Amino acid sequence: MTQFSEFNLDDTILQAIERLGYKEPTPIQSATLPVIQSGKDIIALAQTGSGKTAACTIPICNRVNVHKKDIQALIIVPTRELALQYATEAQKIGKERQVKAFAMYGGESDTLQETKIRDGVQVLIATPGRLIDFIYSRRINLTQVATLVLDEADEMLSMGFYDDLEFIIQCLNHAHQTLLFSATMPPKIRIMAKAHMIDPVEISLIDQRAGPKNIDHQFVYCLPHEREDKLLIMLKEFTPKQSIIFANSRNQCEKIQKNLQRSLPGVDFLHGGLSQDLRTTITSKFRMGKIKHLVATDVAARGLDFSGISHVFIFQLSPDPDIYIHRSGRTGRVDRKGIVTTFITKYEVKLLQNLLNRIKCEPKWIGQVPNLSGGEPARTGRPPNGKGAPRSKPRASKPYNTADKTLPNT
Ligand code: AMP
Repeated sequence: MTQFSEFNLDDTILQAIERLGYKEPTPIQSATLPVIQSGKDIIALAQTGSGKTAACTIPICNRVNVHKKDIQALIIVPTRELALQYATEAQKIGKERQVKAFAMYGGESDTLQETKIRDGVQVLIATPGRLIDFIYSRRINLTQVATLVLDEADEMLSMGFYDDLEFIIQCLNHAHQTLLFSATMPPKIRIMAKAHMIDPVEISLIDQRAGPKNIDHQFVYCLPHEREDKLLIMLKEFTPKQSIIFANSRNQCEKIQKNLQRSLPGVDFLHGGLSQDLRTTITSKFRMGKIKHLVATDVAARGLDFSGISHVFIFQLSPDPDIYIHRSGRTGRVDRKGIVTTFITKYEVKLLQNLLNRIKCEPKWIGQVPNLSGGEPARTGRPPNGKGAPRSKPRASKPYNTADKTLPNT
């Protein structure tokens, strides 16, 4: 078994890893660490929750020259929440080495961000829109960037960031290492990688099921208007440690939250229509366990690490099966168990067939089992009222066209 001590890491980094409680590298860390250290480009297909934030930040924090103020590693991520998560991880890992890591995104004062960068940041994590603003206004120097990381590349693509990424990559016209992380590999990402990466080492840790293995996929077939009541019953019955309930729109998100909070404590909602401050507050309250059930749009579906989520509920299936994979990846993080329960109405039966082909899993039905070829119920399984349901204790992007380039329409 590989150990962190085998990777020729600085003692201060090893101490930080130990303090974080990481006893041994996760498979993605074992696979990528030596390649990153060798300086080669990487295309890594890794399932969400696999430890890829640390897979990047450990070698980066280990290698940056802390005596220089220049940005030496540039990490591009699709959302502000993910930028903050990366920055926090890098700050923890690089604390003793005094690595300066900073997250820069839209919706916050650019003057403060400018000052921070001028004072010295070696690891910059940025969302594409704000970074491009800084590049255009010549307030950032990227000439010393030795490592470029594109994380959640497929998500950035589906949020409409393709041209922005191309632009950023072309701004780095000096020799550098590129690390591309993605949960899926759409053709456009492959084209981008081919155009800009040199002989990349491909690492794929996504298994045939295209999602974390330790997730139970459950489905509830019902009428559209029955979903809210059934959700409430299941939340009471399953007693999740923490849960995320995914909705397809901001309206749906708020409506579900309103209904749940009448009967359950600790329910809040998160979507892209909230101010950045509020989004950050809700995210950290959820992370600290002060919010027990979070109703969210896909703003919370990607990359974010909430370690306590035992259950994910998908109120309405998205047409894109990849969205299901990202939503379900909010539970079952690293080696924990997770349950994903999805409501299926007759309108989603076709989508479900696509999804099952994609994730290659046998659906477990709670209650009515629909006839998947015709959409009508075929027989009855476990009751949908939660009785007999497991008492387990165990994680579409729309075209993006808002003025604020870092804000997905979710
Ligand atoms: P990520 O996929 O980067 O969002 O990471 C998912 C979770 O795994 C986070 O809570 C990390 O703190 C945790 N993690 C990362 N590396 C390790 C490791 N080597 N051992 C245990 N947990 C880890």
